[in-house]
Amino acid sequence: MPIGKESKKAISWADGLRIPVLGFSLAFQIQFAVAATCISKPTEDILVVLDVGHTATNPGATSARGVREYDFNVKLAQRVKEQLLLTGFSRTHLMVTQANGTSGLNQRADRANDMDADLFVSIHHDAVRDEYLTPWLYQGDEHLFFDGAKGFSLHVSTYGESLRLARIIADRLLGSGLNFTTVHQPSNPAGARVPFADSARGIYLRDGLVVLNRTKMPAVLVESGVIVNRDEELMLASSAHHALAAKAIAEAVREFCGPRETPSYRVINVAPDDVLNIRSGPGAHHPKIDSIPPNGRGLRIVSGCEGQWCAVDYNGVRGWVNRQFLGPER
Ligand SMILES: [Zn+2]
Repeated sequence: MPIGKESKKAISWADGLRIPVLGFSLAFQIQFAVAATCISKPTEDILVVLDVGHTATNPGATSARGVREYDFNVKLAQRVKEQLLLTGFSRTHLMVTQANGTSGLNQRADRANDMDADLFVSIHHDAVRDEYLTPWLYQGDEHLFFDGAKGFSLHVSTYGESLRLARIIADRLLGSGLNFTTVHQPSNPAGARVPFADSARGIYLRDGLVVLNRTKMPAVLVESGVIVNRDEELMLASSAHHALAAKAIAEAVREFCGPRETPSYRVINVAPDDVLNIRSGPGAHHPKIDSIPPNGRGLRIVSGCEGQWCAVDYNGVRGWVNRQFLGPER
């Protein structure tokens, strides 16, 4: 489970910057997220830091069968690293640290910052508050378990690019057949009692986690599953799960750093028996060069807008259309 060292850093509520572009009206405001540094780089130049949660001397939670969380974290992080290398992220760095406490947490974030890492992914395995654990005997020894929670969870300290990365990881994990846990939501006393950043994907808002709020790059903490759950512990220890989780994370990183789709537009407010004119310049006095049917789709703005007119590409034809007839396609 994550180490809950609190800091005073305020939550950034800005999910990107809402900027009016080139005189766009309210309907045409486009949300620009602050770009992640990896997007402009070749895959082999992208530095992904995989932070192994906890240390050998302060190993975090203990599983239902007495295995240290740190040992789970090391194995999964190594497998994720292998998968990232196979995916082409040849600068992937496995961060294993020895220092405990706040200084150790600061050190993790500072090292990633000093390395100019593009992404920071911290690997953990989950547990619940001690008072919810129940003793049981396993191979003659008493251990503690809690079977009332299972599933992965993701944690971010801000909205914006960290949340975008977390959403992609969550979608990959969900698409692999895994489920997320709701144990950390405020109404559940057994977990961390923190708000959801995305309740449909098991992503929680954790502004108090040092490795998330001190790092300067998109950062996500992954709780791969609940190791105090007796059934889930067995699954989490399996090589099949390691492979599945590693593939999901590596593919998510590739998707996150890949090219972003240019927004596309459709024709609106044009009568069924009319067309939208494409003109050679930004105004009705410019010659008409083509037209778009009233149900036309797939227009892309290619070089911005001037006043009411936008330069568009429609099926390879480039020209200017009046933006009052354009609506976002998605
Ligand atoms: Zn942990």
